[in-house]
Order: sequence, then structure tokens, then C-alpha cells
Amino acid sequence: MKVYSIAHPYIDRADIRGVVAVMKSGALSLGSKYLDFEQAIAKFTKVKYACAVVNGTAGLHLAVRSLGLSEGDEVITTPLSFISSTTCLLFERIKPVFVDIEEKTFTLDADKIEGAITTKTKAILPVHLFGRSANMPAIMRLARHFKLKVIEDACESMGTKIDGRHTGTFGDVGVIAFYPNKQMTTAEGGIVITNQKKIYELCRSLRNQGRNSKDEWLVHERLGYNYRMNELNASLGVTQLKKLSWMIKEKQQIVRFYNQTLSGIPDLELPFHNEETKYSWFVYLVRVTNGKRDLVIDELAKRKIQAKPYFPVIHLQPFIKEKFDFKKGDFPTAEKIASQGLALPFYIGLSQKDIKYICFQLKAVLASL
Ligand SMILES: *Cc1c(COP(=O)(O)O)cnc(C)c1O
Repeated sequence: MKVYSIAHPYIDRADIRGVVAVMKSGALSLGSKYLDFEQAIAKFTKVKYACAVVNGTAGLHLAVRSLGLSEGDEVITTPLSFISSTTCLLFERIKPVFVDIEEKTFTLDADKIEGAITTKTKAILPVHLFGRSANMPAIMRLARHFKLKVIEDACESMGTKIDGRHTGTFGDVGVIAFYPNKQMTTAEGGIVITNQKKIYELCRSLRNQGRNSKDEWLVHERLGYNYRMNELNASLGVTQLKKLSWMIKEKQQIVRFYNQTLSGIPDLELPFHNEETKYSWFVYLVRVTNGKRDLVIDELAKRKIQAKPYFPVIHLQPFIKEKFDFKKGDFPTAEKIASQGLALPFYIGLSQKDIKYICFQLKAVLASL
């Protein structure tokens, strides 16, 4: 029986050749590849500056530090996300203030932001979840009005645009990630993008042990980290980016085929897709609305089809729930989506036959429960 994993990176010969060439060159860190990668990303996303780092979480941490946010500040963010969009605040003892999400897009509900703003609020941190853009026009209007900074977690939305403009480029600073399940990969990796020189220079220094702008090896101007992306990862990034537009189209095709095959099934809601926005899809997530999502996952696993509950809400993660005294029901829409969301296998190489098979099994499971 064929095994269907939830995600799988698309690696071709150009990727492999590139990495092998770096290995042979002996320049494994701080060579020219990470600079090439930064330039290529800046050009692709149309920003002035890009700073490549070890992973998306490190990028978010640098974004937070580079805006000068610190202990006692509050940042408004979403409870439905991967944990990093909140932990990057906790690293600096900043208080995450959650606001519930829109049911259609699963992203921060801009209408609810104003009610959460206090005198301590310094920034908004929207997440472009699953490749869907958050409502950036509305969020930027609020940010300008209340003089707040904006950090965009674009770790799941590489290639998604709003009116021709890339997610991650609306706010002061944006972060994209390249873990193997993302739209493109560097194995592990992330990048901070910005149009502000000051933010870029701070990120560069913080990434490189707090070294100064001339990268003098033994001069440390501030408390920094080693968040540098190595040359092997950067090489993979360069070759992956070259096929990103093609990979995005392939994924859109898979989404279309899933949508066609799964339409009209009771207890199953398909992802909202505004045709005017050409999403760069991160996962294909349906909603199981009969309360039996976890049973569906178990049954699919028996049929060698991996499906996942993306994501559990952040405010109910054990250590966060305890620290901030959150309880079930605090953010009902996020909790509802978290309890219904079912991510299905989604990667380049899934044929129409594979998708038909997965959908057939899903239908059979739903009918049997
Ligand atoms: C992937 C991801 C990140 C970064 O994760 P890393 O594993 O550190 O690269 C951050 N935020 C979200 C929403 C993500 O999905």
C-alpha cells in the first residue's frame, strides 16, 4: 500500500548539484551563497533588504529585537498559528495579546484589534496562515492610526501577494521560513525582509554575534546570537527560488483537484479561496464539521494516509495557558477551526490518481463514522 505523508520537499538535480558544489568549494559558511540568496529574495519580494538566518523562529526573534520591543510591551497577535509567532515575543518577555480570527481566512480579525489596544501596545504581529494573506490594508491602517509597528509572520506565505504586493512587505519587517514543508526549502532556514536600513543593519549584527556593521570578527557591539544561515542551506535556497513560481502553480493545481473531488460531501468544508488572490498554498486544509476530526485522522492513518490537526491554538498550549491564565472559550473562532481543521497530504508529485484515492478514502471514512 502506498504511504502518503502530509508533506514532502521537491528537490531536483539543480538543488543537489548546487549543494555538492558548495561542499567541494570548502566555503561552508560566510561565503558568497548567502549573499546571492539574500539578493535573490529581496529582488523576488521587491524589498530593499534581506537577512538570511538559521530558521524562521530566529528570524522572528530578530524582527522583534530589531524593533526595540522589550519587557512590559504588548503585541497583538493571533492564537491560531505555529507556536513561533508567539514564542518570539516570550523570548523578550513581551506580552502576547491574542485577538480572535476571521472564520473565512483563519487570520487575525482586523475588526477586533482596536478593542485590544492598550497604552502598552507597541506592535501587531499578523500571521499569513496556510499561505492566505491576513487583511494587511486594514491592519496597516490601524497601525498608522495608533502608531504601532507591524511584524508580518510570512513563514507560511512565500509567494502570496495582495494586489501584486508580497506578503511580508507591508509592515516594518517580515519573516519568511524555509523548513522542508514550506513552499520552498533550505532544509532549515528563514529570512528577514524589510525596506528599512536600520532594521536590516540591526538584524545583520544580531545574527552575527552582535558584530559591527563592518563585520569585524573580534568586535562585539551588542548582545547578539549566531543565527547565520550556512552556505549549503543558502545554495539550496538559490536553486529552489528559481522554480518557486512553477512550484506554486503545481500546488494550485493540486488544490483545484482536491476542491473538485471533495465538493458536496456532508460534514466537510473546503478551504475558502478568493479567486482574485492567487495564494501560494502552504497546506491543504479542510474542516470536519461533525466533531469527529480526530477519529478521521486515526482512520486515515490506518489507510496509510497521514493527516494532521493544524494548528492547536496557542493560548491553550500547556505552558502558555498556565502563564497567562487562559481558558477554553477565550478565542472561540480559533478554537473551532483548531478542532475542525484537517490537513491532507499536499506536495508536488501527488498525481490526480493519488488525490482521487485520498479523497475516496476520506469520503469512505466520513460515511462510516
Ligand atoms: C514555519 C513557521 C515558522 C518558523 O518555523 P521554523 O521551524 O523556525 O523555521 C514561524 N511561524 C509560522 C506560522 C510557521 O508556520
